Amino acid sequence: MLTVDSPTRADALLQAEEQHVAHNYHPLDVVVRSGTGAVLTDVSGREYLDFLAAYSATNFGHGHPALLAAAREQLERVTLTSRAFHHDQLAPFAESLAALVGKEMVLPMNTGAEAVESAVKVARKWGYEVKGVPDGRAEIIVAGGNFHGRTTTIVSFSDDPDARDHFGPYTPGFLTVPYGDLAALEAAVTEHTVAVLLEPIQGEAGVRIPPPGYLAGVRELTTRHRVLFVADEIQSGLGRTGRTLACEHEGVVPDVYLLGKALGGGIVPVSAVVADSDVLGVLQPGQHGSTFGGNPMACAVGRAVVGLLETGEYQDRATRLGVRLRDRLEGMLGRGVVGVRVRGLWAGVDIDPALGSGRDVCEALARRFVLAKDTHGSTIRLAPPLVVAEDQLDAGLDALDAVLADLS
Ligand code: PLP
Repeated sequence: MLTVDSPTRADALLQAEEQHVAHNYHPLDVVVRSGTGAVLTDVSGREYLDFLAAYSATNFGHGHPALLAAAREQLERVTLTSRAFHHDQLAPFAESLAALVGKEMVLPMNTGAEAVESAVKVARKWGYEVKGVPDGRAEIIVAGGNFHGRTTTIVSFSDDPDARDHFGPYTPGFLTVPYGDLAALEAAVTEHTVAVLLEPIQGEAGVRIPPPGYLAGVRELTTRHRVLFVADEIQSGLGRTGRTLACEHEGVVPDVYLLGKALGGGIVPVSAVVADSDVLGVLQPGQHGSTFGGNPMACAVGRAVVGLLETGEYQDRATRLGVRLRDRLEGMLGRGVVGVRVRGLWAGVDIDPALGSGRDVCEALARRFVLAKDTHGSTIRLAPPLVVAEDQLDAGLDALDAVLADLS
């Protein structure tokens, strides 16, 4: 039974946060205390539908029983050993994750950005030691509008001024081409190119889906030029689009998958670089690592996440509910919505700027007890946990309908 705090508790927490937490986010004024499935409850006991799922990190909902059980069991045994010793959770996690995505080896890390950084290092090393690129000359091609994380190297190849400006000097060795443009990609490849790094669907850019054939074209081109195709599936992967991996929609198998977010079940940060041994095999002891990467707790939860994905149930739910999501959102076109992109249970919705910003819409949705997040001006992103019930999905979309009517 939830105790209902006085509203001043939320105000006090917001004030303290304003004073003591760096202002690197602009959250909605909702102070969450607990969560179950697709529902988050605030400190006053009000329930909200979660239509963001922590940017797809809680794909399996809040407090999934199987994930909590795995975490609790491991919590009682051992949580951290460092990789200085072996532990009994690493091999089962790596073996099952590699099998899930059809690769041989896993490099376990923690955050998504660390997985991306790790892949940049692996691709460069592969380029020098396997492809024969002269040392220090490796080039990696990325796509315009990308979002791969926040480290200095990663923001070096971002074209979002908020993410990039005043964080230089920037890391060299990256070339940006327009997303979805195969000719531009082909023209950018040189003998020093070691990898093409891209999101199969650009999440932060507003769930931007590339033109049909693009990913297959990237695969063909990278194979022809002996360049690694690194797919950042940190947001698009692990069930969100109705498949385990978004690349599957085009029947494409890249050389390297980057996974994160949902891999930790919303419990602990878990990320991974997954590839065959001819790529990941370039790493030798001492050349890369992380105190927390591949820790027993992370592996136990990650193994349980893989177990959920092995059933196919969540991918099927995303596909089935995604049809409903698409139908409802397309019905809003011309009624305050000017663009809709949906893949599985993941949608980018462009709001008519005349009605207000994406932020305005998200604030209005929160007043109707639905939590979503704007991205880039007038676009909002919808990504409920894959466990969301049909009536919850409908209720959230009813709220969006009502918000659009209010703003019109
Ligand atoms: N790559 C993609 C595609 C992402 O969407 C994100 C985060 O939103 C990241 C990488 C970075 O992940 P993290 O925030 O865990 O560092």
